[in-house]
Amino acid sequence: MKEQSLYLFNTLTKQKEKFLPIKSGWAGMYNCGPTVYDYVHIGNLRAYVFADVLRRTLEWSGYTVRQIINITDVGHLTSDADDGEDKMTKGLRREGLPVTIEAMRELAEKYTRAFEEDISALNILHPTALPRATEHISEQIELIKALEAKGFAYITSDGVYFDTARDPNYGKLGGLSAQAGLSDESFVRADTNSEKKHPRDFALWKFSPELGWGSPWGKGFPGWHIECSAMSMKYLGETFDIHTGGIDHIPIHHNNEIAQSENATNAPLAYYWLHSAFVNFKSAKMAKSAGGFITRKTLEERGFNSVSYRYWLLTAHYRSPLEFTWEALDGAQNALQRLKNRFLELGSGGGAPSQVYLKKFTDFLSDDLNTPQALALVWNFLKNPEISDLDKKATLIEFDKVLGLGLAGIVPTGIPPDVAKLIEKREGARKHDDWQTADELRREIEHLGYSVKDTDTGPRIQKMN
Ligand code: AMP
Ligand code: ZN
Repeated sequence: MKEQSLYLFNTLTKQKEKFLPIKSGWAGMYNCGPTVYDYVHIGNLRAYVFADVLRRTLEWSGYTVRQIINITDVGHLTSDADDGEDKMTKGLRREGLPVTIEAMRELAEKYTRAFEEDISALNILHPTALPRATEHISEQIELIKALEAKGFAYITSDGVYFDTARDPNYGKLGGLSAQAGLSDESFVRADTNSEKKHPRDFALWKFSPELGWGSPWGKGFPGWHIECSAMSMKYLGETFDIHTGGIDHIPIHHNNEIAQSENATNAPLAYYWLHSAFVNFKSAKMAKSAGGFITRKTLEERGFNSVSYRYWLLTAHYRSPLEFTWEALDGAQNALQRLKNRFLELGSGGGAPSQVYLKKFTDFLSDDLNTPQALALVWNFLKNPEISDLDKKATLIEFDKVLGLGLAGIVPTGIPPDVAKLIEKREGARKHDDWQTADELRREIEHLGYSVKDTDTGPRIQKMN
């Protein structure tokens, strides 16, 4: 299949550019992942819904995607600029756990699992791999050794640092003025950074007698930035197509990743750099430390379906900041419910997707993932009297491949809740190609007196006589 043209806003060039893959038909993508010292908040989840829509759009456009989201399970200091306590250590203390590698692994496991549940509840497709930083310590050490051999690293009493003055291209992603703005809080704190040659130099390896791994420089743990350089290289090669993160990653984290990787390999790290905007709460950035720490669990406790949150995110362009309010989420939940109801009313059976509307939908997505326009199109499309219900249903199923609202898995009303639960579970198993579980669940459903027939438009459920 010939790939569709796709235009993406590239932070590197500050303009929309046509996506040209390194290898025809393939896209390699790295999304900076969570630090697993606590639950992620719904602001964090925007970064992964965005990455998921990007992945689904690439697939929709004909690409095979290799998607990597890293799990930071060590070495992320509370500030991006190398000071403060390590976030994982902070998590250990909060939970009354000893500061040991084993306890840290336990903590990381707990919150990695919670993260996987979060992304699955938001219909975020599982990435190709979710590599953990602690499982790639040797790769990180090798990379630091390579940088040291090329003269890019120097040693201070608290760690090994990257010498940004040696890199004339340092900061090419921009945001350096934002970095300078950070200096008041972080860079100028002489107590933590007194031996740094330049305030913007950053840690490649931090010494830690308390917690750490052996290295040629002494016991300690890797800096946060180096893990992304090491793992992206391992899973996607020295140069790959797309790198994403939240806008807060631009000034420090991504400039530092570029500096490390490109000076080690003499090759570009990634060609397209995409960044999603923040979710604000009461006009401030949602953050773990601030009052507005809302998790997916909080949403569910207040009666919201996680997919309603996804719907709400899709109503804005990924580069526009969003102000979270409970009323807005309520509106999204109602809209999603209306869409599900409409979907069910369309009946079941064979239909053909409307090529005209598929083209319009593609045009919106190809314009830097314009999901608000794509969603508006869905509602206009449903009003079109010239398209039959079954064709509408078939078209919606296609749209949902990108929107990810789980329309195909919706269970009609009137089905007892225990049967509905099994049907949903079975759809989950089918999504992961787990046919054995799907078959077992079908037998359980039949045992309760219902038959399941899998059709192109989702499962058809009937009461058996
Ligand atoms: P962290 O665990 O802090 O590295 O954040 C994980 C991801 O969430 C990163 O891509 C951040 O850019 C993103 N992020 C953090 N806070 C917000 C927010 N309030 N709204 C949207 N994205 C956020
Ligand atoms: Zn990263």
